[in-house]
Amino acid sequence: MADTEKKCNICGSKFENSDKLARHKIETHKEKNSKEKSKVSQSSRYKVTGITAAVAVVIVLMVYYSDTPPTTIQPPAVSLSPTGIIQGVQCDPVEGSVFHVHAHLDIIVDSKQVTIPAGIGIKPNECLYWLHTHNTSGVIHIESPTQTTFTLGQFIQVWDNTPGISPTFEELTHGDKNLKVFVNGTEVNDNYGSIQLSAHDEIVLVSGDVPSSIPSSYEFGGL
Ligand SMILES: [Zn+2]
Ligand SMILES: [Zn+2]
Repeated sequence: MADTEKKCNICGSKFENSDKLARHKIETHKEKNSKEKSKVSQSSRYKVTGITAAVAVVIVLMVYYSDTPPTTIQPPAVSLSPTGIIQGVQCDPVEGSVFHVHAHLDIIVDSKQVTIPAGIGIKPNECLYWLHTHNTSGVIHIESPTQTTFTLGQFIQVWDNTPGISPTFEELTHGDKNLKVFVNGTEVNDNYGSIQLSAHDEIVLVSGDVPSSIPSSYEFGGL
């Protein structure tokens, strides 16, 4: 038999016969194997420790982020009551039928008529403010459950606080605070915000040069 058969292929020790080699392998290298096992289990302990640490980090992060205050929400231009009332103008699920009149608004900026957005005062599938526009004609619908006098200022507040309406009144008039006001063709010296909205009024706001002819009435066509 060749010497290699009595030489331990693990540690290289030589033995008299194959029985002793076999016993050596069992006694010596079994122990070594068990050491290797313990090494393996140690390394798996490290893994467990690593996972525990990772879980701990995640928990710490979760706790950290749950403690972070929510993103600050910018307050609206005017303070809204919980029910969304804007300067006394309520938003109802159905259009008011008790009081239903219409006024017409024209806005002229630098001698050009500008378009008043549709949907002012309308939150789709939610509610309609008592003051609103259904289209871009400039017709202001005044529809409320009680007969009340409303002002252009209230309409403008509703305009600027209806979500998704662009441009805002200030954007359309370039923030001009000195708008000239004409009601039914006559210049009025009141601030535009205090102008009352009466049935079939033709209200014209002018920013910049006043055109030679100012509309004095509007064809409401049955409204
Ligand atoms: Zn309406
Ligand atoms: Zn109407």
